[in-house]
Amino acid sequence: MAINGIKGFNDILPGEVEKWQHIEATARRVFELYGFAEIRVPILEKTELFSRSIGDATDIVEKEMYSFVDKGENCVTMRPEGTASVMRAFIEHKLYAADPVAKLYYMGPMFRYERPQKGRYRQFHQIGAEVTGVYDPKVDAQVLTMLCHFFAELGLEEPSLEINSLGCPVCRPAYRDALREFLLARLDKLCDDCKRRLETNPLRSLDCKAAGCKEATANAPSVLDHLCGECETHFGAVRHHLDLVGTTYTINSRMVRGLDYYTRTTFELVTSLLGAQSAVAAGGRYDGLISDLGGPSLPGIGFAMGVERVALLLADREFRKRPDLFIAALGEQAQQKAFTLMCALQERGLAVEIDYAGNSLKSQMRRSDKFKNRFTLIVGENELSRGMAVLKNMDAGTQADVPLTVDGVALGMLT
Ligand code: ATP
Ligand code: MG
Repeated sequence: MAINGIKGFNDILPGEVEKWQHIEATARRVFELYGFAEIRVPILEKTELFSRSIGDATDIVEKEMYSFVDKGENCVTMRPEGTASVMRAFIEHKLYAADPVAKLYYMGPMFRYERPQKGRYRQFHQIGAEVTGVYDPKVDAQVLTMLCHFFAELGLEEPSLEINSLGCPVCRPAYRDALREFLLARLDKLCDDCKRRLETNPLRSLDCKAAGCKEATANAPSVLDHLCGECETHFGAVRHHLDLVGTTYTINSRMVRGLDYYTRTTFELVTSLLGAQSAVAAGGRYDGLISDLGGPSLPGIGFAMGVERVALLLADREFRKRPDLFIAALGEQAQQKAFTLMCALQERGLAVEIDYAGNSLKSQMRRSDKFKNRFTLIVGENELSRGMAVLKNMDAGTQADVPLTVDGVALGMLT
Protein backbone atom coordinates (compact mmCIF):
# COMPACT_ATOMS: atom_id res chain seq x y z
CA MET A 1 0.00 0.00 0.00
CA ALA A 2 1.22 3.51 -0.81
CA ILE A 3 2.19 5.79 2.07
CA ASN A 4 0.46 9.17 2.23
CA GLY A 5 1.64 12.37 3.88
CA ILE A 6 0.53 13.43 7.36
CA LYS A 7 -2.73 15.36 7.82
CA GLY A 8 -2.09 19.09 7.96
CA PHE A 9 1.32 18.74 6.28
CA ASN A 10 1.08 19.80 2.66
CA ASP A 11 3.06 19.28 -0.49
CA ILE A 12 3.41 22.38 -2.62
CA LEU A 13 3.40 21.12 -6.16
CA PRO A 14 4.65 22.63 -9.42
CA GLY A 15 1.89 24.86 -10.72
CA GLU A 16 1.28 26.19 -7.19
CA VAL A 17 4.89 26.59 -6.16
CA GLU A 18 5.44 29.40 -8.69
CA LYS A 19 2.94 31.47 -6.68
CA TRP A 20 4.98 30.83 -3.55
CA GLN A 21 8.18 31.80 -5.32
CA HIS A 22 6.52 35.02 -6.43
CA ILE A 23 5.40 35.80 -2.86
CA GLU A 24 8.85 35.07 -1.49
CA ALA A 25 10.65 37.07 -4.19
CA THR A 26 8.30 40.02 -3.65
CA ALA A 27 8.94 39.92 0.09
CA ARG A 28 12.70 39.83 -0.40
CA ARG A 29 12.57 42.69 -2.88
CA VAL A 30 10.30 44.91 -0.78
CA PHE A 31 11.92 44.16 2.60
CA GLU A 32 15.37 44.85 1.23
CA LEU A 33 14.20 48.31 0.12
CA TYR A 34 13.59 49.00 3.80
CA GLY A 35 17.04 47.76 4.84
CA PHE A 36 16.14 44.27 6.08
CA ALA A 37 18.63 41.39 5.82
CA GLU A 38 17.68 37.73 5.88
CA ILE A 39 18.40 35.52 8.87
CA ARG A 40 18.00 31.72 8.82
CA VAL A 41 17.41 30.03 12.13
CA PRO A 42 16.86 26.34 12.90
CA ILE A 43 13.49 24.61 13.02
CA LEU A 44 14.21 22.87 16.31
CA GLU A 45 14.80 24.85 19.52
CA LYS A 46 14.75 24.16 23.25
CA THR A 47 11.13 24.03 24.39
CA GLU A 48 11.89 26.57 27.09
CA LEU A 49 12.57 29.24 24.46
CA PHE A 50 8.93 29.20 23.38
CA SER A 51 7.31 28.65 26.77
CA ARG A 52 9.25 31.59 28.18
CA SER A 53 8.66 34.00 25.30
CA ILE A 54 5.22 33.16 23.91
CA GLY A 55 3.83 32.52 27.40
CA ASP A 56 2.63 29.44 29.26
CA ALA A 57 -1.03 30.48 29.24
CA THR A 58 -1.34 30.82 25.47
CA ASP A 59 -3.01 28.47 22.99
CA ILE A 60 0.29 27.92 21.24
CA VAL A 61 2.19 26.75 24.31
CA GLU A 62 -0.74 25.03 26.04
CA LYS A 63 -2.04 23.02 23.10
CA GLU A 64 -0.31 23.51 19.81
CA MET A 65 3.40 22.78 20.12
CA TYR A 66 5.17 19.85 18.51
CA SER A 67 7.41 19.05 21.44
CA PHE A 68 9.33 15.87 22.14
CA VAL A 69 12.23 14.52 24.11
CA ASP A 70 15.13 13.69 21.80
CA LYS A 71 17.50 10.76 22.13
CA GLY A 72 19.73 12.84 24.42
CA GLU A 73 16.81 13.51 26.81
CA ASN A 74 16.51 17.15 25.72
CA CYS A 75 13.07 18.78 25.61
CA VAL A 76 12.85 20.27 22.14
CA THR A 77 10.12 21.88 20.06
CA MET A 78 9.58 22.38 16.35
CA ARG A 79 9.21 26.15 16.19
CA PRO A 80 5.60 27.38 16.23
CA GLU A 81 6.71 30.91 15.22
CA GLY A 82 9.85 32.78 14.26
CA THR A 83 10.32 35.77 16.55
CA ALA A 84 11.58 33.82 19.57
CA SER A 85 14.25 32.04 17.49
CA VAL A 86 15.35 35.22 15.73
CA MET A 87 15.72 37.01 19.07
CA ARG A 88 17.53 34.02 20.54
CA ALA A 89 20.02 34.25 17.67
CA PHE A 90 20.25 38.05 17.99
CA ILE A 91 21.23 37.63 21.64
CA GLU A 92 23.42 34.55 21.22
CA HIS A 93 25.54 36.11 18.48
CA LYS A 94 25.55 39.55 20.16
CA LEU A 95 24.34 41.18 16.97
CA TYR A 96 23.50 44.22 19.11
CA ALA A 97 27.18 44.84 19.89
CA ALA A 98 27.86 46.21 16.41
CA ASP A 99 24.51 47.99 16.18
CA PRO A 100 21.49 47.66 18.47
CA VAL A 101 19.29 48.47 15.48
CA ALA A 102 18.95 45.23 13.52
CA LYS A 103 16.42 44.74 10.72
CA LEU A 104 15.97 41.05 10.04
CA TYR A 105 13.59 38.97 7.97
CA TYR A 106 13.04 35.23 7.74
CA MET A 107 10.90 32.74 5.89
CA GLY A 108 10.18 29.10 6.48
CA PRO A 109 7.94 26.42 7.95
CA MET A 110 6.29 26.65 11.38
CA PHE A 111 4.48 23.88 13.24
CA ARG A 112 1.32 23.98 15.34
CA TYR A 113 -0.97 21.14 16.28
CA GLU A 114 -4.26 22.74 15.20
CA ARG A 115 -7.37 21.38 13.50
CA PRO A 116 -6.52 21.46 9.79
CA GLN A 117 -8.92 23.40 7.56
CA LYS A 118 -8.67 25.88 4.72
CA GLY A 119 -5.94 28.37 5.62
CA ARG A 120 -5.01 26.48 8.81
CA TYR A 121 -2.48 23.67 8.73
CA ARG A 122 -0.08 21.88 11.05
CA GLN A 123 2.95 22.73 9.00
CA PHE A 124 2.48 26.20 7.61
CA HIS A 125 4.86 28.87 6.40
CA GLN A 126 5.59 32.34 7.61
CA ILE A 127 7.49 35.26 6.23
CA GLY A 128 8.35 37.62 9.04
CA ALA A 129 10.43 40.65 9.85
CA GLU A 130 11.80 42.15 13.05
CA VAL A 131 13.42 45.44 14.03
CA THR A 132 15.34 45.74 17.28
CA GLY A 133 16.64 48.71 19.20
CA VAL A 134 14.14 51.44 18.29
CA TYR A 135 11.54 52.86 20.69
CA ASP A 136 10.60 55.62 18.28
CA PRO A 137 7.07 55.23 16.88
CA LYS A 138 8.36 56.05 13.39
CA VAL A 139 9.65 52.50 13.22
CA ASP A 140 6.19 51.11 14.03
CA ALA A 141 4.76 53.19 11.19
CA GLN A 142 7.51 52.08 8.86
CA VAL A 143 7.09 48.37 9.55
CA LEU A 144 3.35 48.69 8.92
CA THR A 145 3.91 50.72 5.79
CA MET A 146 6.35 48.10 4.50
CA LEU A 147 3.80 45.36 5.10
CA CYS A 148 1.10 47.29 3.23
CA HIS A 149 3.62 48.03 0.46
CA PHE A 150 4.25 44.29 0.15
CA PHE A 151 0.53 43.51 -0.30
CA ALA A 152 0.18 46.36 -2.79
CA GLU A 153 3.12 44.95 -4.79
CA LEU A 154 1.24 41.66 -5.00
CA GLY A 155 -1.67 43.59 -6.46
CA LEU A 156 -3.96 42.66 -3.56
CA GLU A 157 -6.66 44.97 -2.25
CA GLU A 158 -7.27 42.78 0.76
CA PRO A 159 -6.10 42.46 3.51
CA SER A 160 -6.64 45.70 5.40
CA LEU A 161 -4.69 46.99 8.36
CA GLU A 162 -6.08 47.09 11.90
CA ILE A 163 -4.05 48.51 14.77
CA ASN A 164 -4.27 48.66 18.53
CA SER A 165 -2.13 49.36 21.55
CA LEU A 166 -1.88 46.83 24.36
CA GLY A 167 -0.13 49.20 26.75
CA CYS A 168 2.97 48.36 28.74
CA PRO A 169 3.87 46.87 32.14
CA VAL A 170 2.93 50.23 33.68
CA CYS A 171 -0.66 50.43 32.44
CA ARG A 172 -1.66 46.92 31.39
CA PRO A 173 -2.05 45.47 34.91
CA ALA A 174 -4.79 48.00 35.71
CA TYR A 175 -6.54 47.20 32.44
CA ARG A 176 -6.22 43.47 33.09
CA ASP A 177 -7.81 43.96 36.51
CA ALA A 178 -10.65 46.04 35.09
CA LEU A 179 -11.31 43.45 32.40
CA ARG A 180 -11.13 40.56 34.88
CA GLU A 181 -13.66 42.28 37.10
CA PHE A 182 -15.95 42.87 34.13
CA LEU A 183 -15.68 39.21 33.09
CA LEU A 184 -16.19 37.88 36.63
CA ALA A 185 -19.67 39.39 36.50
CA ARG A 186 -20.33 37.35 33.33
CA LEU A 187 -18.50 34.18 34.30
CA ASP A 188 -21.37 31.85 33.37
CA LYS A 189 -21.15 32.90 29.71
CA LEU A 190 -17.41 32.22 29.32
CA CYS A 191 -16.04 29.03 27.77
CA ASP A 192 -13.98 26.70 29.94
CA ASP A 193 -10.67 27.94 28.50
CA CYS A 194 -11.52 31.56 29.24
CA LYS A 195 -12.75 30.73 32.74
CA ARG A 196 -9.52 28.93 33.45
CA ARG A 197 -7.43 31.76 32.05
CA LEU A 198 -9.31 34.52 33.82
CA GLU A 199 -6.52 34.83 36.37
CA THR A 200 -3.52 34.35 34.12
CA ASN A 201 -4.63 35.92 30.85
CA PRO A 202 -8.10 37.53 30.82
CA LEU A 203 -7.31 39.44 27.60
CA ARG A 204 -7.62 36.19 25.65
CA SER A 205 -11.42 36.32 26.08
CA LEU A 206 -11.59 39.34 23.76
CA ASP A 207 -10.22 37.15 20.98
CA CYS A 208 -12.15 33.97 21.83
CA LYS A 209 -14.29 32.60 19.01
CA ALA A 210 -16.88 30.96 21.35
CA ALA A 211 -20.35 32.55 21.07
CA GLY A 212 -20.74 32.99 24.84
CA CYS A 213 -17.38 34.75 25.13
CA LYS A 214 -18.27 37.04 22.25
CA GLU A 215 -21.48 37.97 24.00
CA ALA A 216 -19.83 38.37 27.40
CA THR A 217 -17.13 40.68 26.05
CA ALA A 218 -19.41 42.77 23.83
CA ASN A 219 -19.20 45.91 25.99
CA ALA A 220 -15.96 45.11 27.75
CA PRO A 221 -13.73 48.00 28.82
CA SER A 222 -11.35 49.15 26.08
CA VAL A 223 -7.60 48.90 26.51
CA LEU A 224 -7.27 52.26 24.80
CA ASP A 225 -9.07 53.95 27.70
CA HIS A 226 -6.48 52.53 30.09
CA LEU A 227 -3.21 53.51 28.40
CA CYS A 228 -0.67 55.42 30.46
CA GLY A 229 0.51 58.81 29.19
CA GLU A 230 3.59 57.40 27.44
CA CYS A 231 1.69 54.62 25.70
CA GLU A 232 -1.00 57.05 24.65
CA THR A 233 1.60 59.42 23.18
CA HIS A 234 3.34 56.53 21.43
CA PHE A 235 0.12 55.24 19.87
CA GLY A 236 -0.82 58.78 18.78
CA ALA A 237 2.57 59.18 17.09
CA VAL A 238 2.28 55.82 15.31
CA ARG A 239 -1.06 56.94 13.85
CA HIS A 240 0.34 60.35 12.96
CA HIS A 241 3.22 58.82 10.98
CA LEU A 242 0.92 56.37 9.23
CA ASP A 243 -1.26 59.34 8.23
CA LEU A 244 1.78 61.27 7.01
CA VAL A 245 2.62 58.61 4.43
CA GLY A 246 -0.98 57.71 3.62
CA THR A 247 -0.95 54.19 5.08
CA THR A 248 -4.61 53.51 5.81
CA TYR A 249 -5.76 51.61 8.90
CA THR A 250 -8.62 51.21 11.30
CA ILE A 251 -8.34 51.03 15.08
CA ASN A 252 -9.53 47.78 16.63
CA SER A 253 -9.38 48.11 20.40
CA ARG A 254 -10.48 44.47 20.84
CA MET A 255 -7.45 43.07 19.10
CA VAL A 256 -5.29 41.05 21.43
CA ARG A 257 -2.63 38.78 20.16
CA GLY A 258 -2.12 35.10 20.93
CA LEU A 259 1.38 35.66 22.28
CA ASP A 260 2.19 37.21 25.63
CA TYR A 261 5.27 39.18 24.65
CA TYR A 262 3.51 42.03 22.90
CA THR A 263 3.55 45.56 24.29
CA ARG A 264 2.10 48.78 22.89
CA THR A 265 1.47 48.65 19.14
CA THR A 266 -0.18 45.47 17.84
CA PHE A 267 -1.67 44.95 14.43
CA GLU A 268 -3.28 42.51 12.06
CA LEU A 269 -3.86 42.48 8.35
CA VAL A 270 -7.31 41.02 8.01
CA THR A 271 -9.45 39.77 5.16
CA SER A 272 -13.07 38.78 4.88
CA LEU A 273 -12.25 36.28 2.13
CA LEU A 274 -10.90 33.40 4.22
CA GLY A 275 -13.66 32.75 6.76
CA ALA A 276 -12.41 32.17 10.28
CA GLN A 277 -8.84 32.38 9.02
CA SER A 278 -9.17 36.14 8.75
CA ALA A 279 -5.67 37.18 9.84
CA VAL A 280 -3.20 37.13 6.97
CA ALA A 281 -0.39 38.82 8.86
CA ALA A 282 0.00 39.94 12.43
CA GLY A 283 2.52 41.33 14.82
CA GLY A 284 3.44 44.02 17.24
CA ARG A 285 5.98 45.56 19.54
CA TYR A 286 7.78 43.44 22.12
CA ASP A 287 9.78 45.84 24.25
CA GLY A 288 10.40 43.32 27.04
CA LEU A 289 11.13 40.15 25.08
CA ILE A 290 14.86 40.59 24.40
CA SER A 291 15.66 41.17 28.08
CA ASP A 292 13.26 38.37 29.14
CA LEU A 293 15.31 36.03 26.97
CA GLY A 294 18.50 37.09 28.72
CA GLY A 295 19.58 39.76 26.26
CA PRO A 296 20.16 43.48 26.71
CA SER A 297 17.30 45.81 27.45
CA LEU A 298 16.32 46.63 23.87
CA PRO A 299 12.89 47.02 22.31
CA GLY A 300 11.66 45.18 19.25
CA ILE A 301 8.82 45.12 16.78
CA GLY A 302 7.89 42.68 14.07
CA PHE A 303 5.29 40.69 12.22
CA ALA A 304 4.70 37.38 10.51
CA MET A 305 2.44 36.61 7.60
CA GLY A 306 1.02 33.24 6.73
CA VAL A 307 2.19 32.31 3.24
CA GLU A 308 -0.67 29.81 2.70
CA ARG A 309 -3.19 32.57 3.37
CA VAL A 310 -1.42 35.01 1.07
CA ALA A 311 -1.40 32.30 -1.62
CA LEU A 312 -5.16 31.78 -1.11
CA LEU A 313 -5.71 35.51 -1.65
CA LEU A 314 -3.82 35.27 -4.92
CA ALA A 315 -6.42 32.62 -5.87
CA ASP A 316 -5.94 31.24 -9.35
CA ARG A 317 -3.67 33.89 -10.72
CA GLU A 318 -1.14 32.22 -12.98
CA PHE A 319 2.53 32.45 -12.04
CA ARG A 320 3.81 29.47 -13.97
CA LYS A 321 6.65 30.50 -16.25
CA ARG A 322 6.28 29.90 -19.98
CA PRO A 323 9.18 28.29 -21.83
CA ASP A 324 10.62 30.56 -24.52
CA LEU A 325 10.73 27.88 -27.17
CA PHE A 326 9.49 24.40 -28.02
CA ILE A 327 11.29 22.52 -30.76
CA ALA A 328 9.21 20.03 -32.72
CA ALA A 329 11.38 17.70 -34.80
CA LEU A 330 10.44 15.00 -37.28
CA GLY A 331 12.83 12.17 -38.07
CA GLU A 332 15.95 10.87 -36.38
CA GLN A 333 18.34 13.46 -37.80
CA ALA A 334 16.06 16.39 -37.09
CA GLN A 335 15.64 15.16 -33.53
CA GLN A 336 19.40 15.07 -33.00
CA LYS A 337 19.59 18.60 -34.37
CA ALA A 338 16.74 19.67 -32.06
CA PHE A 339 18.55 18.18 -29.10
CA THR A 340 21.85 19.96 -29.75
CA LEU A 341 20.05 23.19 -30.56
CA MET A 342 18.09 22.95 -27.31
CA CYS A 343 21.27 22.54 -25.24
CA ALA A 344 23.00 25.43 -26.99
CA LEU A 345 20.00 27.75 -26.56
CA GLN A 346 19.67 26.82 -22.89
CA GLU A 347 23.32 27.80 -22.43
CA ARG A 348 22.38 31.11 -24.02
CA GLY A 349 19.78 31.58 -21.27
CA LEU A 350 16.61 30.56 -23.12
CA ALA A 351 14.08 28.13 -21.63
CA VAL A 352 13.60 25.38 -24.22
CA GLU A 353 11.54 22.18 -24.34
CA ILE A 354 11.37 19.27 -26.77
CA ASP A 355 9.23 16.18 -26.95
CA TYR A 356 11.51 13.32 -25.90
CA ALA A 357 9.29 10.65 -27.40
CA GLY A 358 9.52 12.12 -30.90
CA ASN A 359 5.99 11.18 -31.91
CA SER A 360 3.98 12.62 -34.79
CA LEU A 361 3.99 16.36 -35.41
CA LYS A 362 0.44 16.48 -34.13
CA SER A 363 1.30 14.91 -30.80
CA GLN A 364 4.38 17.12 -30.46
CA MET A 365 2.21 20.17 -31.03
CA ARG A 366 -0.20 18.94 -28.36
CA ARG A 367 2.70 18.80 -25.94
CA SER A 368 3.73 22.28 -26.99
CA ASP A 369 0.18 23.51 -26.26
CA LYS A 370 0.55 22.28 -22.72
CA PHE A 371 3.75 24.27 -22.20
CA LYS A 372 2.24 27.49 -23.56
CA ASN A 373 5.70 28.29 -24.97
CA ARG A 374 6.13 31.64 -26.67
CA PHE A 375 7.71 30.23 -29.84
CA THR A 376 7.72 26.89 -31.63
CA LEU A 377 10.44 25.81 -34.01
CA ILE A 378 9.51 23.11 -36.50
CA VAL A 379 12.36 21.05 -37.90
CA GLY A 380 11.58 18.42 -40.55
CA GLU A 381 13.86 16.44 -42.87
CA ASN A 382 13.13 18.97 -45.59
CA GLU A 383 14.03 21.99 -43.48
CA LEU A 384 17.10 20.20 -42.23
CA SER A 385 18.46 19.69 -45.73
CA ARG A 386 17.94 23.39 -46.49
CA GLY A 387 19.56 24.40 -43.17
CA MET A 388 16.39 26.30 -42.31
CA ALA A 389 13.45 25.85 -39.93
CA VAL A 390 10.01 27.35 -39.39
CA LEU A 391 9.72 29.58 -36.32
CA LYS A 392 6.18 30.25 -35.13
CA ASN A 393 5.34 33.10 -32.79
CA MET A 394 2.56 31.48 -30.79
CA ASP A 395 1.12 34.74 -29.41
CA ALA A 396 1.13 36.70 -32.67
CA GLY A 397 0.17 33.70 -34.80
CA THR A 398 2.90 34.56 -37.31
CA GLN A 399 5.69 32.42 -38.70
CA ALA A 400 8.97 32.87 -40.55
CA ASP A 401 11.83 30.80 -41.95
CA VAL A 402 14.98 31.13 -39.88
CA PRO A 403 18.49 29.69 -40.34
CA LEU A 404 18.84 26.48 -38.35
CA THR A 405 21.62 27.80 -36.11
CA VAL A 406 21.74 29.06 -32.54
CA ASP A 407 22.09 32.65 -33.74
CA GLY A 408 19.45 32.22 -36.41
CA VAL A 409 16.83 30.94 -33.98
CA ALA A 410 17.73 33.40 -31.22
CA LEU A 411 17.60 36.33 -33.66
CA GLY A 412 14.34 35.08 -35.13
CA MET A 413 12.81 35.16 -31.66
CA LEU A 414 13.87 38.77 -31.19
CA THR A 415 12.33 40.07 -34.37
P1 ATP B 1 -5.13 32.67 14.03
O1 ATP B 1 -5.88 33.67 14.86
O2 ATP B 1 -5.66 32.54 12.63
O3 ATP B 1 -4.94 31.37 14.73
P2 ATP B 1 -2.61 33.52 15.04
O4 ATP B 1 -2.95 34.74 15.81
O5 ATP B 1 -2.42 32.25 15.78
O6 ATP B 1 -3.67 33.30 13.84
P3 ATP B 1 0.10 34.37 14.57
O7 ATP B 1 0.68 33.50 15.59
O8 ATP B 1 0.05 35.81 14.81
O9 ATP B 1 -1.34 33.82 14.14
O10 ATP B 1 0.85 34.10 13.17
C1 ATP B 1 0.89 35.06 12.12
C2 ATP B 1 0.22 34.54 10.88
O11 ATP B 1 0.58 33.20 10.60
C3 ATP B 1 -1.30 34.49 10.95
O12 ATP B 1 -1.83 35.75 10.68
C4 ATP B 1 -1.63 33.49 9.86
O13 ATP B 1 -1.62 34.10 8.57
C5 ATP B 1 -0.49 32.53 9.94
N1 ATP B 1 -0.85 31.31 10.68
C6 ATP B 1 -0.90 31.13 12.01
N2 ATP B 1 -1.27 29.87 12.31
C7 ATP B 1 -1.45 29.23 11.12
C8 ATP B 1 -1.82 27.90 10.74
N3 ATP B 1 -2.03 26.95 11.64
N4 ATP B 1 -1.92 27.62 9.42
C9 ATP B 1 -1.69 28.55 8.48
N5 ATP B 1 -1.33 29.82 8.77
C10 ATP B 1 -1.21 30.16 10.07
MG1 MG C 1 -3.64 30.61 16.19
